[in-house]
Amino acid sequence: MTKLEQIRAAESRLLLSTYERSPILFVKGEGVHIIDEQGERYLDLLSGIGVNALGYGHPAIEAAIARQSRALIHISNLYYHEGQAELALRLTERTGLDRCFFANTGTEAWEGALKLARAYAGLKRSEGTQIGTKFLALDQSFHGRTFGSMSTTYKAKYREPFGPVVPGVEFVRFNDVADLRAKFSSEVCAILVEAIQGEGGIRPLTQEFFATARALASSTGALLIADEIQAGMGRTGKWCAYQHYGIQPDITTLAKPLAGGLPLGAVLCTEEVARAIHAGMHGTTFGGGPLACAVAIAVIDAMEKDGLLQHATEVGNYFQEQLRNLAARHESIVDVRGKGLMVAAEVDSAELGKLVVAEMLKRRILINCTSDTVLRFLPPYIVEHAHIDTAIAALDQILTEHTAHAAALSAGGHQRG
Ligand SMILES: *Cc1c(COP(=O)(O)O)cnc(C)c1O
Repeated sequence: MTKLEQIRAAESRLLLSTYERSPILFVKGEGVHIIDEQGERYLDLLSGIGVNALGYGHPAIEAAIARQSRALIHISNLYYHEGQAELALRLTERTGLDRCFFANTGTEAWEGALKLARAYAGLKRSEGTQIGTKFLALDQSFHGRTFGSMSTTYKAKYREPFGPVVPGVEFVRFNDVADLRAKFSSEVCAILVEAIQGEGGIRPLTQEFFATARALASSTGALLIADEIQAGMGRTGKWCAYQHYGIQPDITTLAKPLAGGLPLGAVLCTEEVARAIHAGMHGTTFGGGPLACAVAIAVIDAMEKDGLLQHATEVGNYFQEQLRNLAARHESIVDVRGKGLMVAAEVDSAELGKLVVAEMLKRRILINCTSDTVLRFLPPYIVEHAHIDTAIAALDQILTEHTAHAAALSAGGHQRG
């Protein structure tokens, strides 16, 4: 048995069967490449689902981990350490919000946002405002796997096995302004959006829908909450995807790329909303620890120093342009969309989506397919034009072979016919 076979056999006995992993054993990464136990190099255009923003083995991250792990790894939130205020300053400046709470993961940040919205609605009620406790979420939304997050996540397969879910959530048809207006009332304490849906298929809100959500929330004292866990921290070429719209939410959440591969999440809110929280109401043992904060600071500083927002915009535009050229040659690509390095090519069937991911893997390129038909690309921000060319050439070859294969099958069918 190979080492990979041994691990697969052991995992299949010992772990809960939550994942269908690709049969590769990765041992090391370098830049935008990741290397398996045989020494084979893979081009990573998924970066651990949008996490490894600076790729692998970035010197700024290595230095921060080495320095901080020697000094202090964990201290709890009972005491001060140097990192939280320093990181919170960077995040408040970049999100346009005023205050920050640190968590460990995306879903935990999102739970914090939901709790903050409920607490704020309670405060408003105590001050005489008529406002309820309901959340409006969107069709195809994804906010995480814990109870509150799962209850505000659209797909039934994520919620139904675990019912009853948290009550008080209603889903609005995606980008349907009339449906949003119809479902909004003073019963609603918050409207929950992703400026660009991630798991839902790299789908951007329309300006009109986003602006309507902002205006409706403001009209009653409800909150607009933007989940930037996937789209935020520079992936789209701006620090937050909502900044492309010129719309400011009351609360936002960050996680995936925040600490360059270490787990760290953050909830940010306005000074007004922060009034709802006082000591003891919310907390975490690990969140915002010295190590994760030190690395997040190093990631932000490296992004700034290397101009990676601008780079993400440029390479992302080039990527979309090349995908559009590809779509012009292959009818099976029905749409190309995204912003910066959050890019999608939608294909015309779920079978083709699966096939392309598998064929790319054979050619040692990592991508994935979300919402059945959406090929999703979330490369590290350090990706270069040449890597895009490699991926495009591989996609071209795969789709050409697929078309030839389909044509041969249907010609065979006619002969028999
Ligand atoms: C990944 C994701 C989450 C959940 O983050 P976890 O760290 O997996 O808990 C929430 N919202 C969005 C938009 C995400 O992409």
